[in-house]
Amino acid sequence: MYNLEEIRQDFPILGRQVYNRPLVYLDNAATTQKPRCVVEAIAEEYYSVNANVHRGVHYLSQQATDLHEDARNRVKDFINARSAAEVVFTRGTTESLNLVAASFGEAFLKEGDEVILSVMEHHSNIVPWQLLRERKGIVIKVIPMDEVGNLCLDVYETLFSERTKLVCVAHVSNVLGTVNPVEEMARTAHKYGAFFLVDGAQSVPHFKVDVQQLNCDFLTFSGHKVYGPTGIGVLYGREELLERMPPYQGGGEMIARVTFEHTTYERLPYKFEAGTPDYVGSHALAVALDYVTRLGMDNIAAHERELTRYAMKRMREIDSMKLYGETVGKDAVVAFNVGDIHPLDLGTLLDRLGIAIRTGHHCAQPLMARCGVEGMARASFALYNTKEEVDVLVEGIKRVSRMF
Ligand code: PLP
Repeated sequence: MYNLEEIRQDFPILGRQVYNRPLVYLDNAATTQKPRCVVEAIAEEYYSVNANVHRGVHYLSQQATDLHEDARNRVKDFINARSAAEVVFTRGTTESLNLVAASFGEAFLKEGDEVILSVMEHHSNIVPWQLLRERKGIVIKVIPMDEVGNLCLDVYETLFSERTKLVCVAHVSNVLGTVNPVEEMARTAHKYGAFFLVDGAQSVPHFKVDVQQLNCDFLTFSGHKVYGPTGIGVLYGREELLERMPPYQGGGEMIARVTFEHTTYERLPYKFEAGTPDYVGSHALAVALDYVTRLGMDNIAAHERELTRYAMKRMREIDSMKLYGETVGKDAVVAFNVGDIHPLDLGTLLDRLGIAIRTGHHCAQPLMARCGVEGMARASFALYNTKEEVDVLVEGIKRVSRMF
């Protein structure tokens, strides 16, 4: 049913060599590789359908529009949104978060209002709120975490006040792999009259995410992390909230009628999609979502969890190994340091062995500060990785260790 050998054939890049060694690609939290069907969908659309969407009466424009809107429907089904109007296409998670900060911030937040984030957020879910703080004088509060990488939910409850308007939390930490209990956290937020945003950049690629089950008000994710192309992403927003939010950018596509005196805006979701959208990207993203749906999100999750468990076990064999994030049920990320080897040296030497991992602060400097380090090495897994690749990583780390 889950035939890894066959699956890997779908990803031509996995067959290539680097430095005359087979590529071992373990940087999937940064971006995933693309299956043939996604690349072919892009080529096929440019070769035989390409035309600007929503604008033309001609055949190609209508066909391109159909593909784009069909993609929106497929995203809607994938995350179980109530309607396609709740699916806004963006450039990625970062743009989705900036859109919410700017537009929700404009409509709902006044000086002194509070937004709660967590200590393990990606910079993309920190800096937009700081920009808003500079503009509007909002207050940012931070949920701490314990030693193994769980958010402190008891402290979380104490952060709420009558000024709390929004909580924004990563579903899965891109460093620790912690799967945060966002369903429960959203319940708490709603109890205090606040809205809840889930940064799904690292969850949507790995397991089934259902916005109605989570009962979140916003969900963000990036196409390129879920086997789709770069430059396309999604903001899911509850329809009644999106209705009350002003446009994020102005331009074509987002207007109903323009005069120099007054402009009215398009209905949802177009109000938030100024300019020509990445209609080829949206279609290719839908093809990627179909691909993972065919494999089965539960099968992918089971495979990756097993791989993560195996990697954690094997990593513990290594002398002076320090692992970050040891929560139960952690997702497909293993962050570590070995002795006093600088993570950059570790990453560079592993690269020479054909092993691609990430090193540095992983766009989570506050989390690095919490862990008392400048940086870490990180291996992150995708649906096509194998236990043999984990073994190559472990042997590679041991070899680099011996050199030091
Ligand atoms: N949030 C999380 C948890 C991430 O892991 C990332 C990317 O690594 C982002 C946000 C930003 O995603 P993007 O660069 O695709 O906008």
